Amino acid sequence: AGLPGATLAAALAAAVAALVTIGWALDGGSFAEPAVVVCAGLAALALVARTADLLRDGRIAAMISQESQHRFRELADRTSDVVLICDRDGIIRYASPAVGEYGYTSAELEGRSLSELVHPEDRAAGARTVRAATAGRHPDRFPCRVRSADGTWRHVESTVSRYREVNTPGQLLITARDVSDQVALRRQVTYLTYHDGLTGLPNRAYVEDRAKDAIDRAAAAEPDRPSAQIGAVFIDLDGFTGVNDSIGHGAGDLLLAQAARRLRAAVPSGDTVARWGGDEFAILVESAASAPEIVDLAERLAGIIAAEPFRVADREISLTASIGVALAGGRALGHLLRNADVAMSRAKDLGGGRVEVFAAHMHADVMRRLEMASDLRAAVTAGKLELQYQPVVDFSTSQVIGVEALVRWSRGGQPVPPAEFLGVAEDSGLVVPLGEQVLREACAQAAAWRGAGLEIGVSVNFSLRQLTAAGFAASVLTALDETGLPPGALTLEVAERVLIDGAGPMADGLAELRRHGVRLAIDDFGTGYASLAYLKQLSVDVIKIDPSFVTGLGDDATLAMLTRTIIQVGHDLGIEVVAEGIERPEHLDLLREMGCGLGQGYLIAKPMDAAGIEALVRSGWQGTTVPGEATAPVVAPAK
Ligand code: C2E
Ligand code: MG
Ligand code: MG
Repeated sequence: AGLPGATLAAALAAAVAALVTIGWALDGGSFAEPAVVVCAGLAALALVARTADLLRDGRIAAMISQESQHRFRELADRTSDVVLICDRDGIIRYASPAVGEYGYTSAELEGRSLSELVHPEDRAAGARTVRAATAGRHPDRFPCRVRSADGTWRHVESTVSRYREVNTPGQLLITARDVSDQVALRRQVTYLTYHDGLTGLPNRAYVEDRAKDAIDRAAAAEPDRPSAQIGAVFIDLDGFTGVNDSIGHGAGDLLLAQAARRLRAAVPSGDTVARWGGDEFAILVESAASAPEIVDLAERLAGIIAAEPFRVADREISLTASIGVALAGGRALGHLLRNADVAMSRAKDLGGGRVEVFAAHMHADVMRRLEMASDLRAAVTAGKLELQYQPVVDFSTSQVIGVEALVRWSRGGQPVPPAEFLGVAEDSGLVVPLGEQVLREACAQAAAWRGAGLEIGVSVNFSLRQLTAAGFAASVLTALDETGLPPGALTLEVAERVLIDGAGPMADGLAELRRHGVRLAIDDFGTGYASLAYLKQLSVDVIKIDPSFVTGLGDDATLAMLTRTIIQVGHDLGIEVVAEGIERPEHLDLLREMGCGLGQGYLIAKPMDAAGIEALVRSGWQGTTVPGEATAPVVAPAK
């Protein structure tokens, strides 16, 4: 239904005329009687309202299109969209010049079948759209691919509607707009959203989505026993941070890309290998027949990383991986990736280079550590940590020459073993503010002792995280400056494995501090991989022989031989050697006989508070070398 266009135009003209008349009459003119003017005005308003209705439901557009068939071609000829008119059997009767964009001329297409141009996969949907249009429904936008003259497929968005030509009923009007650029852009955005630029692997967002889908599918398929064959494998390269520091980030990136290729090649193609971030990879296994198969895969991947060194920057770098495995099943279903991550951390905590399968208690461990981290943070903020000092004694003079500062924390009145809370502090980064406090207090205490005439130095332990924190060297210099402690009275203790792994900025920071006179000690010597030959390159001032050597003295001939060699080489290089963990008089005797003049351990004194140290320094160490006599600490430990 509707007014023919001509009628509409006449009505509009009448309405406008009437309104003009009203305006003129109200202005005081005398064109007609007021009653006539008002009637004409009402009619005009009714018409305007009706016109607005028509405009709203789009019928005017239809009317205009009917009324201006002759204008149609002119329009179609000019628009950049392709306009086609087809028979009801899909034969193209008219093609606008815009088909030139696809490499065709209008004449080439006219007479050909539409379906030849549409991608086979899109034909069914196309046919549905055509049926809907024939039935007179409003045109929907319909995305499809069409073949251009050179055979490539182009993405278009098209509309199909009835074309109402009077003498050829049943024709269809089709418009098509090229959206290839949009599609390409959309694809690129999707790609970037879901891929990692460095390795070309899918990223964390992708594997998370994919894991969710896989788990949903599994749960829907078998509600009672969700599929046991879905699993996740988390891989973290051990010591990668050290590698990055020593060979540079560019080479580190190359190494990651190589690792990615190795992993991808070793995992069945139906399973996802993704880069989780940093040096971590996540694998979502969906194709395994059984749980043991997934664990086998994880073991194989561990071998693939460790078997052959990586070649980057003209160097061969051997790495191991910490690997965690989680299996979907039971209640663990929703937390597959998280659980694999937890198991991976566990593998790392156990020393790396191994595979751990997630077990429920691991989650409890993680929670416990999180709670500990939060309590520790509060303690650090409130300055609730305390320091104890363990004396280092010169055996020949019985004098205390220095102390090692050791941090202590009581949680709800209970002392927490340092190894436990320091691990948490290291993981959470809390060790940096914690270490700042320790350093400051230790320096202040040593400065106070020296002010009181006690010429002793202080050693402070530094972890990897502390040494690699931004501005580390500057913060040490500031602490010295503000407490007035001479740099030569401070020794930084760095564990052997940290010192070996670390290069780059960390080594630069340590070198800078040494230039200022701060001393450097290699802690836990003998437990890592520093060979004696390497000692010279490390340029340290002090070697602290690990207690594991000292404890075995007297029972184990090899250990004794090694200890003797360490002491000898240290002295040859002009490095001070301190034996740690001296617990029994025979340890002391043997060490002295080997030429080691400095040591610390429970036999001499347990760690104690500052007042205890003061008393000990003033009295001197009442050392004994009589075998079997002093098995208890000579100086009473602090409570
Ligand atoms: P470390 O630097 O090797 O410190 C020596 C550890 O050996 C101390 O344990 C000390 O109490 C213990 N020890 C001393 N004499 C003997 C002995 O005769 N026998 C035995 N079995 N042990 C002895 P503690 O205080 O539990 O510290 C453990 C580790 O925690 C330290 O090892 C050090 O690496 C780290 N640490 C301690 N305080 C700090 C700190 O303030 N900052 C950082 N970053 N690490 C710290
Ligand atoms: Mg130490
Ligand atoms: Mg030590």
